[in-house]
Amino acid sequence: MSDPVQLRIPGPTPLPETVREAGSRQMVNHRGPEFKELLGRVTTAMKKGFRTESEVLIITSSGTGALEAAVVNTLSPGDSVLSVNIGVFGDRFAKICRAYGADVTTLAVEHGKAADPSDVGAQLREMAADGKPAVAVLVTFNETSTGVTNPLEEIAQQIHHDAPDALILVDAVSGLGAIPLEMDAWGLDVVTTGSQKSWMVPPGLAMVALSPRAWAAVERSTMPRFYFDLKLHRDAMARGETPWTPAISVAFALDEGIKLIEAEGYPRIFARHAACGAAARAGLEALGIRLLADPDVASNTVTSAWLPDGVEWSALTKVCRARGLVLAGGQGQLTGKIFRVGHLGSVTTDDIVRCMEILEDALAELGLQIEPGASARAAAQAAANANDGATERKPVFATTA
Ligand code: PLP
Repeated sequence: MSDPVQLRIPGPTPLPETVREAGSRQMVNHRGPEFKELLGRVTTAMKKGFRTESEVLIITSSGTGALEAAVVNTLSPGDSVLSVNIGVFGDRFAKICRAYGADVTTLAVEHGKAADPSDVGAQLREMAADGKPAVAVLVTFNETSTGVTNPLEEIAQQIHHDAPDALILVDAVSGLGAIPLEMDAWGLDVVTTGSQKSWMVPPGLAMVALSPRAWAAVERSTMPRFYFDLKLHRDAMARGETPWTPAISVAFALDEGIKLIEAEGYPRIFARHAACGAAARAGLEALGIRLLADPDVASNTVTSAWLPDGVEWSALTKVCRARGLVLAGGQGQLTGKIFRVGHLGSVTTDDIVRCMEILEDALAELGLQIEPGASARAAAQAAANANDGATERKPVFATTA
Protein backbone atom coordinates (compact mmCIF):
# COMPACT_ATOMS: atom_id res chain seq x y z
CA MET A 1 0.00 0.00 0.00
CA SER A 2 1.35 3.41 -0.91
CA ASP A 3 1.90 6.02 1.76
CA PRO A 4 0.30 8.32 2.86
CA VAL A 5 -2.98 6.46 2.91
CA GLN A 6 -6.05 8.39 1.81
CA LEU A 7 -8.53 7.44 4.51
CA ARG A 8 -11.74 8.51 2.81
CA ILE A 9 -14.32 7.05 5.18
CA PRO A 10 -16.85 9.10 7.16
CA GLY A 11 -14.95 8.76 10.42
CA PRO A 12 -12.57 8.05 11.96
CA THR A 13 -10.93 10.78 9.93
CA PRO A 14 -7.24 11.44 9.26
CA LEU A 15 -5.54 13.24 12.15
CA PRO A 16 -3.59 16.50 11.74
CA GLU A 17 -0.01 16.25 12.99
CA THR A 18 -0.48 18.35 16.14
CA VAL A 19 -3.53 16.29 17.09
CA ARG A 20 -1.58 13.05 16.70
CA GLU A 21 1.24 14.37 18.85
CA ALA A 22 -1.15 15.56 21.55
CA GLY A 23 -2.70 12.10 21.73
CA SER A 24 0.62 10.56 22.68
CA ARG A 25 1.32 12.89 25.64
CA GLN A 26 2.13 11.61 29.13
CA MET A 27 -0.87 11.06 31.41
CA VAL A 28 -2.08 13.57 34.00
CA ASN A 29 -4.29 13.14 37.03
CA HIS A 30 -7.82 13.37 35.71
CA ARG A 31 -8.84 14.80 39.09
CA GLY A 32 -6.05 17.37 39.03
CA PRO A 33 -5.70 21.00 37.85
CA GLU A 34 -4.35 20.26 34.34
CA PHE A 35 -7.35 18.19 33.36
CA LYS A 36 -9.75 20.63 34.99
CA GLU A 37 -8.37 23.44 32.84
CA LEU A 38 -8.48 21.34 29.71
CA LEU A 39 -12.07 20.27 30.34
CA GLY A 40 -13.10 23.89 30.90
CA ARG A 41 -11.42 25.00 27.66
CA VAL A 42 -12.84 22.19 25.58
CA THR A 43 -16.41 22.44 26.84
CA THR A 44 -16.46 26.22 26.45
CA ALA A 45 -15.23 25.88 22.87
CA MET A 46 -17.72 23.12 22.15
CA LYS A 47 -20.62 25.44 22.98
CA LYS A 48 -19.66 27.47 19.91
CA GLY A 49 -19.74 24.31 17.80
CA PHE A 50 -23.17 23.36 19.13
CA ARG A 51 -24.37 26.99 19.01
CA THR A 52 -25.81 26.71 22.48
CA GLU A 53 -25.76 28.43 25.81
CA SER A 54 -26.31 25.05 27.46
CA GLU A 55 -23.45 23.07 28.86
CA VAL A 56 -21.79 20.55 26.57
CA LEU A 57 -20.98 17.35 28.45
CA ILE A 58 -18.04 15.21 27.37
CA ILE A 59 -18.52 11.50 27.91
CA THR A 60 -16.09 8.67 27.29
CA SER A 61 -17.80 6.51 24.69
CA SER A 62 -18.37 6.35 20.98
CA GLY A 63 -21.20 8.33 19.40
CA THR A 64 -23.70 5.57 20.12
CA GLY A 65 -23.16 6.17 23.83
CA ALA A 66 -24.27 9.78 23.35
CA LEU A 67 -27.43 8.55 21.60
CA GLU A 68 -28.10 6.19 24.48
CA ALA A 69 -27.48 9.00 26.97
CA ALA A 70 -29.98 11.20 25.09
CA VAL A 71 -32.65 8.51 25.35
CA VAL A 72 -32.20 7.16 28.87
CA ASN A 73 -31.93 10.57 30.50
CA THR A 74 -35.01 12.17 28.98
CA LEU A 75 -37.54 9.35 28.44
CA SER A 76 -39.48 6.79 30.44
CA PRO A 77 -40.56 3.25 29.52
CA GLY A 78 -43.81 3.36 27.55
CA ASP A 79 -43.22 6.87 26.19
CA SER A 80 -44.50 7.42 22.70
CA VAL A 81 -41.61 8.35 20.41
CA LEU A 82 -41.49 9.22 16.71
CA SER A 83 -38.39 8.01 14.90
CA VAL A 84 -37.69 9.88 11.67
CA ASN A 85 -35.68 7.17 9.99
CA ILE A 86 -33.73 7.87 6.80
CA GLY A 87 -31.09 5.15 7.19
CA VAL A 88 -29.04 2.87 9.41
CA PHE A 89 -28.29 5.45 12.08
CA GLY A 90 -31.91 6.53 12.37
CA ASP A 91 -32.70 2.88 12.86
CA ARG A 92 -30.07 2.58 15.60
CA PHE A 93 -31.53 5.53 17.52
CA ALA A 94 -34.96 3.85 17.40
CA LYS A 95 -33.50 0.51 18.53
CA ILE A 96 -31.97 2.16 21.60
CA CYS A 97 -35.40 3.60 22.48
CA ARG A 98 -37.07 0.21 22.07
CA ALA A 99 -34.36 -1.51 24.14
CA TYR A 100 -35.35 0.75 27.04
CA GLY A 101 -39.07 0.19 26.59
CA ALA A 102 -40.23 3.22 24.59
CA ASP A 103 -43.19 2.85 22.23
CA VAL A 104 -41.60 3.81 18.90
CA THR A 105 -43.50 4.80 15.76
CA THR A 106 -41.27 4.94 12.68
CA LEU A 107 -41.55 7.34 9.77
CA ALA A 108 -39.37 5.52 7.24
CA VAL A 109 -37.99 7.43 4.28
CA GLU A 110 -36.62 5.94 1.06
CA HIS A 111 -32.82 5.64 1.03
CA GLY A 112 -31.18 8.65 -0.52
CA LYS A 113 -33.98 11.02 0.41
CA ALA A 114 -34.36 13.40 3.34
CA ALA A 115 -37.39 13.52 5.58
CA ASP A 116 -40.11 15.87 4.37
CA PRO A 117 -41.05 18.18 7.26
CA SER A 118 -44.73 18.05 6.29
CA ASP A 119 -44.69 14.22 6.55
CA VAL A 120 -43.19 14.56 10.03
CA GLY A 121 -46.00 16.96 10.96
CA ALA A 122 -48.68 14.65 9.55
CA GLN A 123 -47.26 11.68 11.47
CA LEU A 124 -47.20 13.68 14.70
CA ARG A 125 -50.82 14.74 14.22
CA GLU A 126 -51.81 11.15 13.54
CA MET A 127 -50.07 9.95 16.70
CA ALA A 128 -51.89 12.60 18.72
CA ALA A 129 -55.22 11.64 17.13
CA ASP A 130 -54.54 7.99 18.06
CA GLY A 131 -54.19 9.05 21.68
CA LYS A 132 -50.43 8.63 21.91
CA PRO A 133 -48.90 12.05 21.29
CA ALA A 134 -45.13 11.93 20.83
CA VAL A 135 -43.07 12.67 23.92
CA ALA A 136 -39.97 12.91 21.73
CA VAL A 137 -38.92 12.90 18.08
CA LEU A 138 -35.64 11.30 17.01
CA VAL A 139 -33.96 12.97 14.04
CA THR A 140 -30.65 12.20 12.35
CA PHE A 141 -29.02 15.43 11.19
CA ASN A 142 -26.65 13.84 8.68
CA GLU A 143 -27.39 10.19 7.81
CA THR A 144 -23.96 8.71 7.21
CA SER A 145 -25.24 5.46 5.68
CA THR A 146 -26.94 7.24 2.76
CA GLY A 147 -25.03 10.54 2.60
CA VAL A 148 -28.12 12.68 3.20
CA THR A 149 -28.46 15.79 5.36
CA ASN A 150 -31.94 16.33 6.71
CA PRO A 151 -33.47 19.85 6.59
CA LEU A 152 -33.23 19.92 10.36
CA GLU A 153 -34.27 23.52 10.87
CA GLU A 154 -37.50 22.99 8.91
CA ILE A 155 -38.17 19.63 10.57
CA ALA A 156 -37.71 21.24 13.99
CA GLN A 157 -40.10 24.07 13.05
CA GLN A 158 -42.70 21.52 12.01
CA ILE A 159 -42.29 19.58 15.25
CA HIS A 160 -42.66 22.77 17.28
CA HIS A 161 -45.83 23.51 15.32
CA ASP A 162 -47.51 20.08 15.47
CA ALA A 163 -46.20 18.70 18.75
CA PRO A 164 -44.94 21.67 20.77
CA ASP A 165 -44.31 19.56 23.87
CA ALA A 166 -42.26 16.89 22.10
CA LEU A 167 -38.54 16.87 22.76
CA ILE A 168 -36.31 16.91 19.68
CA LEU A 169 -33.43 14.47 20.11
CA VAL A 170 -30.80 14.90 17.41
CA ASP A 171 -28.11 12.52 16.23
CA ALA A 172 -25.66 15.08 14.88
CA VAL A 173 -22.72 12.67 15.12
CA SER A 174 -21.47 13.01 11.54
CA GLY A 175 -22.60 16.54 10.72
CA LEU A 176 -22.06 18.88 13.64
CA GLY A 177 -19.00 21.06 13.22
CA ALA A 178 -18.92 20.56 9.43
CA ILE A 179 -22.45 21.59 8.38
CA PRO A 180 -24.30 24.50 10.02
CA LEU A 181 -26.51 23.52 12.95
CA GLU A 182 -28.04 25.92 15.48
CA MET A 183 -29.02 24.09 18.64
CA ASP A 184 -30.61 27.01 20.51
CA ALA A 185 -32.02 28.99 17.57
CA TRP A 186 -33.69 25.90 16.08
CA GLY A 187 -35.03 24.76 19.45
CA LEU A 188 -33.27 21.38 19.55
CA ASP A 189 -33.42 19.63 22.92
CA VAL A 190 -30.60 17.11 22.86
CA VAL A 191 -27.72 17.27 20.38
CA THR A 192 -24.99 14.64 20.15
CA THR A 193 -21.68 14.21 18.37
CA GLY A 194 -18.53 12.07 18.44
CA SER A 195 -14.84 12.93 18.54
CA GLN A 196 -13.85 10.92 15.46
CA LYS A 197 -15.98 12.97 13.07
CA SER A 198 -15.55 16.64 12.18
CA TRP A 199 -13.49 17.28 15.31
CA MET A 200 -10.45 15.59 13.71
CA VAL A 201 -9.51 13.48 16.71
CA PRO A 202 -9.52 9.73 17.43
CA PRO A 203 -12.66 7.90 18.53
CA GLY A 204 -13.34 7.70 22.26
CA LEU A 205 -15.22 10.82 23.32
CA ALA A 206 -18.81 11.80 22.69
CA MET A 207 -20.41 15.16 23.37
CA VAL A 208 -23.97 15.87 24.33
CA ALA A 209 -25.85 19.06 25.17
CA LEU A 210 -29.33 19.38 26.67
CA SER A 211 -31.69 22.34 26.43
CA PRO A 212 -33.36 23.62 29.64
CA ARG A 213 -36.50 21.74 28.51
CA ALA A 214 -34.48 18.53 28.22
CA TRP A 215 -32.97 19.05 31.69
CA ALA A 216 -36.53 19.38 33.04
CA ALA A 217 -37.38 16.09 31.31
CA VAL A 218 -34.40 14.47 33.05
CA GLU A 219 -36.17 15.07 36.36
CA ARG A 220 -39.26 13.16 35.11
CA SER A 221 -37.46 10.41 33.22
CA THR A 222 -37.47 6.92 34.73
CA MET A 223 -35.43 4.90 32.23
CA PRO A 224 -32.64 3.03 34.02
CA ARG A 225 -29.17 4.55 33.72
CA PHE A 226 -25.87 4.55 35.50
CA TYR A 227 -22.73 5.11 33.37
CA PHE A 228 -24.62 7.56 31.16
CA ASP A 229 -26.46 9.34 33.99
CA LEU A 230 -26.04 12.90 32.75
CA LYS A 231 -26.82 14.47 36.12
CA LEU A 232 -23.68 12.79 37.44
CA HIS A 233 -21.78 14.16 34.44
CA ARG A 234 -23.16 17.67 34.98
CA ASP A 235 -22.31 17.60 38.68
CA ALA A 236 -18.80 16.35 37.98
CA MET A 237 -18.33 19.01 35.30
CA ALA A 238 -19.16 21.69 37.86
CA ARG A 239 -16.08 20.44 39.75
CA GLY A 240 -13.99 20.37 36.56
CA GLU A 241 -14.10 16.59 36.36
CA THR A 242 -15.87 13.71 34.71
CA PRO A 243 -17.62 11.13 36.90
CA TRP A 244 -15.56 8.23 35.54
CA THR A 245 -11.98 8.03 34.25
CA PRO A 246 -12.08 9.82 30.90
CA ALA A 247 -10.19 8.96 27.68
CA ILE A 248 -7.47 11.46 28.59
CA SER A 249 -5.42 10.98 25.42
CA VAL A 250 -8.45 11.71 23.26
CA ALA A 251 -9.17 14.78 25.39
CA PHE A 252 -5.60 16.02 24.77
CA ALA A 253 -6.17 15.47 21.06
CA LEU A 254 -9.53 17.27 21.17
CA ASP A 255 -7.92 20.27 22.83
CA GLU A 256 -5.56 20.51 19.84
CA GLY A 257 -8.30 19.81 17.29
CA ILE A 258 -10.29 22.70 18.71
CA LYS A 259 -7.29 25.04 18.32
CA LEU A 260 -7.24 24.22 14.61
CA ILE A 261 -11.00 24.69 14.36
CA GLU A 262 -10.90 28.06 16.09
CA ALA A 263 -8.01 29.23 13.90
CA GLU A 264 -9.93 28.35 10.73
CA GLY A 265 -13.35 29.49 11.99
CA TYR A 266 -16.69 27.80 11.37
CA PRO A 267 -17.72 29.81 8.27
CA ARG A 268 -14.57 28.68 6.46
CA ILE A 269 -14.91 25.13 7.75
CA PHE A 270 -18.47 24.93 6.40
CA ALA A 271 -17.37 26.36 3.05
CA ARG A 272 -14.48 23.86 2.86
CA HIS A 273 -16.84 20.95 3.49
CA ALA A 274 -19.29 22.29 0.91
CA ALA A 275 -16.47 22.50 -1.63
CA CYS A 276 -15.27 18.97 -0.82
CA GLY A 277 -18.83 17.65 -1.14
CA ALA A 278 -19.31 19.39 -4.49
CA ALA A 279 -15.96 18.05 -5.71
CA ALA A 280 -16.77 14.47 -4.68
CA ARG A 281 -20.17 14.54 -6.35
CA ALA A 282 -18.85 16.06 -9.58
CA GLY A 283 -15.87 13.70 -9.71
CA LEU A 284 -18.02 10.59 -9.29
CA GLU A 285 -20.59 11.75 -11.82
CA ALA A 286 -17.80 12.38 -14.34
CA LEU A 287 -16.93 8.69 -13.93
CA GLY A 288 -20.48 7.85 -14.97
CA ILE A 289 -21.31 6.75 -11.43
CA ARG A 290 -24.83 7.33 -10.14
CA LEU A 291 -25.14 9.11 -6.82
CA LEU A 292 -27.56 7.78 -4.21
CA ALA A 293 -28.56 11.01 -2.46
CA ASP A 294 -30.97 13.52 -3.95
CA PRO A 295 -28.79 16.45 -5.08
CA ASP A 296 -30.68 18.97 -2.92
CA VAL A 297 -29.97 17.08 0.28
CA ALA A 298 -26.61 15.46 -0.52
CA SER A 299 -24.31 15.58 2.47
CA ASN A 300 -21.16 17.67 2.56
CA THR A 301 -19.41 15.17 4.84
CA VAL A 302 -20.00 11.89 2.97
CA THR A 303 -20.99 11.03 -0.60
CA SER A 304 -22.77 7.78 -1.38
CA ALA A 305 -22.79 6.25 -4.87
CA TRP A 306 -24.14 3.12 -6.53
CA LEU A 307 -21.48 0.60 -7.48
CA PRO A 308 -21.07 0.66 -11.27
CA ASP A 309 -22.65 -2.28 -13.13
CA GLY A 310 -20.46 -5.34 -12.91
CA VAL A 311 -18.26 -3.94 -10.13
CA GLU A 312 -18.34 -5.76 -6.79
CA TRP A 313 -17.55 -3.84 -3.62
CA SER A 314 -14.95 -6.45 -2.63
CA ALA A 315 -13.08 -5.88 -5.91
CA LEU A 316 -13.35 -2.09 -5.75
CA THR A 317 -12.06 -1.81 -2.21
CA LYS A 318 -9.17 -4.15 -3.05
CA VAL A 319 -7.91 -2.19 -6.08
CA CYS A 320 -8.35 1.11 -4.23
CA ARG A 321 -6.53 -0.15 -1.13
CA ALA A 322 -3.66 -1.33 -3.32
CA ARG A 323 -3.32 2.33 -4.38
CA GLY A 324 -3.56 3.70 -0.84
CA LEU A 325 -7.20 4.79 -0.99
CA VAL A 326 -9.57 3.49 1.67
CA LEU A 327 -13.26 3.98 0.86
CA ALA A 328 -16.31 2.94 2.89
CA GLY A 329 -18.79 0.28 1.76
CA GLY A 330 -22.54 0.26 2.10
CA GLN A 331 -24.30 -0.49 5.38
CA GLY A 332 -27.49 -2.36 6.19
CA GLN A 333 -29.65 -2.97 3.12
CA LEU A 334 -27.20 -1.02 1.00
CA THR A 335 -24.32 -3.40 1.70
CA GLY A 336 -22.80 -4.54 -1.59
CA LYS A 337 -24.83 -1.97 -3.53
CA ILE A 338 -23.17 1.34 -2.78
CA PHE A 339 -19.82 2.74 -1.72
CA ARG A 340 -19.14 5.92 0.18
CA VAL A 341 -16.49 8.62 0.06
CA GLY A 342 -15.93 10.35 3.38
CA HIS A 343 -14.94 14.02 3.39
CA LEU A 344 -15.11 15.44 6.86
CA GLY A 345 -12.72 16.83 9.40
CA SER A 346 -9.21 17.38 8.18
CA VAL A 347 -9.90 17.24 4.42
CA THR A 348 -9.18 19.54 1.51
CA THR A 349 -10.48 19.70 -2.04
CA ASP A 350 -7.00 18.57 -3.17
CA ASP A 351 -7.58 15.36 -1.20
CA ILE A 352 -10.81 14.82 -3.13
CA VAL A 353 -9.14 15.48 -6.49
CA ARG A 354 -6.43 12.96 -5.57
CA CYS A 355 -9.10 10.50 -4.46
CA MET A 356 -10.75 10.79 -7.91
CA GLU A 357 -7.41 10.23 -9.68
CA ILE A 358 -6.92 7.01 -7.75
CA LEU A 359 -10.50 5.93 -8.30
CA GLU A 360 -10.18 6.48 -12.07
CA ASP A 361 -7.12 4.29 -12.14
CA ALA A 362 -8.70 1.62 -9.94
CA LEU A 363 -11.89 1.45 -12.01
CA ALA A 364 -9.87 1.25 -15.24
CA GLU A 365 -8.12 -1.80 -13.79
CA LEU A 366 -11.55 -3.32 -13.17
CA GLY A 367 -12.29 -2.93 -16.89
CA LEU A 368 -14.42 0.22 -16.94
CA GLN A 369 -14.07 2.61 -19.87
CA ILE A 370 -12.65 5.69 -18.18
CA GLU A 371 -11.61 8.96 -19.80
CA PRO A 372 -8.29 9.60 -18.05
CA GLY A 373 -8.29 12.78 -15.98
CA ALA A 374 -11.97 13.63 -16.52
CA SER A 375 -13.08 12.89 -12.98
CA ALA A 376 -10.22 14.74 -11.32
CA ARG A 377 -10.81 17.72 -13.62
CA ALA A 378 -14.53 17.76 -12.81
CA ALA A 379 -13.76 17.57 -9.09
CA ALA A 380 -11.25 20.41 -9.30
CA GLN A 381 -13.68 22.54 -11.31
CA ALA A 382 -16.53 21.95 -8.86
CA ALA A 383 -14.23 22.80 -5.96
CA ALA A 384 -13.16 26.03 -7.68
CA ASN A 385 -16.78 27.00 -8.37
CA ALA A 386 -17.76 26.26 -4.79
CA ASN A 387 -14.86 28.30 -3.48
CA ASP A 388 -15.77 31.26 -5.72
CA GLY A 389 -19.27 31.15 -4.29
CA ALA A 390 -17.95 30.82 -0.77
CA THR A 391 -15.94 34.04 -0.93
CA GLU A 392 -19.06 35.96 -1.92
CA ARG A 393 -21.36 34.22 0.51
CA LYS A 394 -21.96 35.88 3.82
CA PRO A 395 -20.89 33.67 6.70
CA VAL A 396 -23.85 31.40 7.41
CA PHE A 397 -22.75 31.24 10.96
CA ALA A 398 -21.05 33.80 13.16
CA THR A 399 -19.19 32.21 16.05
CA THR A 400 -20.10 33.56 19.45
CA ALA A 401 -17.35 35.08 21.54
N1 PLP B 1 -24.81 8.36 14.16
C1 PLP B 1 -24.23 8.66 13.00
C2 PLP B 1 -24.94 9.58 12.06
C3 PLP B 1 -22.99 8.12 12.69
O1 PLP B 1 -22.39 8.42 11.54
C4 PLP B 1 -22.36 7.26 13.61
C5 PLP B 1 -21.06 6.64 13.30
O2 PLP B 1 -20.65 6.56 12.18
C6 PLP B 1 -23.02 6.99 14.80
C7 PLP B 1 -24.25 7.55 15.06
C8 PLP B 1 -22.46 6.06 15.81
O3 PLP B 1 -21.27 6.50 16.29
P1 PLP B 1 -20.20 5.47 16.89
O4 PLP B 1 -19.84 4.53 15.78
O5 PLP B 1 -19.10 6.41 17.29
O6 PLP B 1 -20.84 4.79 18.03
